[in-house]
Amino acid sequence: MAATQEKIRVTVRMRPLNHKEQAMHDDLIAWECFHDQRSIIFNNPNQESSATATPYTFDKVFAPSCSTQQVYDEGVRDVALSALSGINATIFAYGQTSSGKTFTMRGIVENAIKDIYDYIKNKPEQHFILKIAALEIYNETVIDLLNPESGPLRLVDDPERGTIVEKLNEQVAKDAQHLRHLIAICQAHRQVGETSLNDKSSRSHQIIRLTLESSLRESSGHEKTLVASLNFVDLAGSERISQTKICGVRLKEGNHINRSLLTLSTVIRKLSGGKRGHIPYRDSKLTRILQSALGGNARTAIICTISPSLSHVEQTKNTLTFATSAK
Ligand code: ADP
Ligand code: MG
Repeated sequence: MAATQEKIRVTVRMRPLNHKEQAMHDDLIAWECFHDQRSIIFNNPNQESSATATPYTFDKVFAPSCSTQQVYDEGVRDVALSALSGINATIFAYGQTSSGKTFTMRGIVENAIKDIYDYIKNKPEQHFILKIAALEIYNETVIDLLNPESGPLRLVDDPERGTIVEKLNEQVAKDAQHLRHLIAICQAHRQVGETSLNDKSSRSHQIIRLTLESSLRESSGHEKTLVASLNFVDLAGSERISQTKICGVRLKEGNHINRSLLTLSTVIRKLSGGKRGHIPYRDSKLTRILQSALGGNARTAIICTISPSLSHVEQTKNTLTFATSAK
């Protein structure tokens, strides 16, 4: 692992109260974002003073009034664009179900596409190829979102490329429009099965992987090639792991625990702790698939999404505890 490893970028985004929450008179906003846009504090609306609460501080805290464009510009942009210079990057959305992961990640993907194609347009001397693949991990089963009919996919270890998803469909995007079209197909496929398996999206992880290849003829005549992957990961609802499990070292897995999410939290904690030693990438499919884009020279941004509501305070605290451990 590189000695100069950058820290993981950790930001928090609080969504507005939704209509249902607004309709409940006793459901109040329980958090206050500081003007420095870096801290957030629990502020119990049923108590006079919040003297006992300590603020949580991150690289950035986005209040409900912040747009996804702001979240992208200030929390993600440079991490995402590093993939254009050959550095693998991964952007995660982490948080309880209904906190805004999918809403945020879809906007982030859209902003990144625009940004990437703007960049490409301004580099006519450089030849780019963009490829997309997408998958879903549900109960440790990997499904191809560009081609779900192909059934569960196997992970295999390649001596040179590391873990690869066997037979995963990868398509070349001809332009931004085509890329958006392919992403829409993946999103539609993720929604299939939602009705039969009630809360499938809260239990599954979605990865959209863009592979960015570019070649540039240098003045010496030598052709220089860069390849990197940019991964957008919309995680399962973090209520799948409880507080004790985030803090605990290892637990025996049951059906109620999402193994990939639990392993990811352990891997992130170990990476951000900067300690040498064993990082348990191999304990779950998600971390095996993302290994080359996590740690080492790769760049990582985690957007933790939270609800402002008093009724979700326990889960919000769990999310902020995870976010703190990832810093
Ligand atoms: P999750 O994927 O975490 O389960 P969603 O992204 O589906 O949550 O969000 C739940 C609901 O809240 C959706 O209706 C979504 O449109 C809305 N929502 C989430 N974040 C925001 C936001 N920042 N601003 C406005 N609406 C939001
Ligand atoms: Mg979702």
